[in-house]
Amino acid sequence: MAMDMVRNADERVNWIASIPFFAMHLVPFLIVFTGITWGSVVLCAVLYVARMFFITAGYHRYFAHRSYKLGRGMQFVMALGGSLAAQKGVLWWAGHHRDHHLYADQPQDIHSPRKGFWWSHIGWFLSDKFKATPEDRIKDFTMYPELVWLDRYSLVPPTILALGIFLVGGPSALVVGFFLSTILLYHGVFTINSLAHVFGNRRFATTDTSRNNWLLAMITLGEGWHNNHHHYRSSTNQGFYWWEFDVSFYVLKALSVFGLVRGIRKPPIEALMKKRIVKGVFDRGMFEARFAKGILALERAKARGGVYYEKKLRKLEKLVARAKASAAEISQYMRTVQGLRAGRIC
Ligand SMILES: [Zn+2]
Ligand SMILES: [Zn+2]
Repeated sequence: MAMDMVRNADERVNWIASIPFFAMHLVPFLIVFTGITWGSVVLCAVLYVARMFFITAGYHRYFAHRSYKLGRGMQFVMALGGSLAAQKGVLWWAGHHRDHHLYADQPQDIHSPRKGFWWSHIGWFLSDKFKATPEDRIKDFTMYPELVWLDRYSLVPPTILALGIFLVGGPSALVVGFFLSTILLYHGVFTINSLAHVFGNRRFATTDTSRNNWLLAMITLGEGWHNNHHHYRSSTNQGFYWWEFDVSFYVLKALSVFGLVRGIRKPPIEALMKKRIVKGVFDRGMFEARFAKGILALERAKARGGVYYEKKLRKLEKLVARAKASAAEISQYMRTVQGLRAGRIC
């Protein structure tokens, strides 16, 4: 998706402060010196999957959305597991994520791809603007001192993990097992903020540009059903049908058998039927994004003038006409329903 929304002046990357983040991406090249062992590859895979679970099931579905219940001990385990991914503190992560849902793909959205693809993928958290934990967004968890500590010293657990891996497994385990899996995990999680708002299908006419994408669901243990999630975010499962695999949900369901997880929530049938994208339903989220993109293209074309400008103008007019046709179909449908109801009452 091309950028169609202008970022605020304070929404820019602090390149100097971001050097460690970019430098970290060079660490896996050290395999030239350390070599790769089967053990380090297995460790890489295990750490990717395990930490992805803590981020998706813990940071996201529990702390950001409270889609199920945990006791205080398990709550701490989830926060600790998530912090091992080195994606900042639990309160920082969950608080900012709540912000994303509040303004999804609107100008106030902290990481909409409408503000640029790379901004949504990594730029936003490399900006000073979003450095602090948004405490007002996550007040329901700031009462737990252990979570506040973990949030403040979020780099302590992954540092201890890295040290432990180095001492037990040696340099190859550290480079491949820890660093490579941490980097893959970064970009796996970040795809939900970037790609899951650009590529995939839309089942529900949400007011954002979220998509359902099976490939992203595979690499994120179920988070790729992002349009489902934006439609009904308080649900524990994000795959709404049996074929929408959702590994994080399966694990939570298994933990609920032992009583470690309680109050799992699923979308009610009314929610599954509401705002379905069928012919005639106005998809406001996509219309807004396409219209803004059209206006931007038109402004650029205006400078070039002539046939090019006319072509862009016609494209935009067609988009508006299509939206009007959808709205007309809805009102026709509404009139039919109202007519039937009136008839029945008589
Ligand atoms: Zn969410
Ligand atoms: Zn989203």
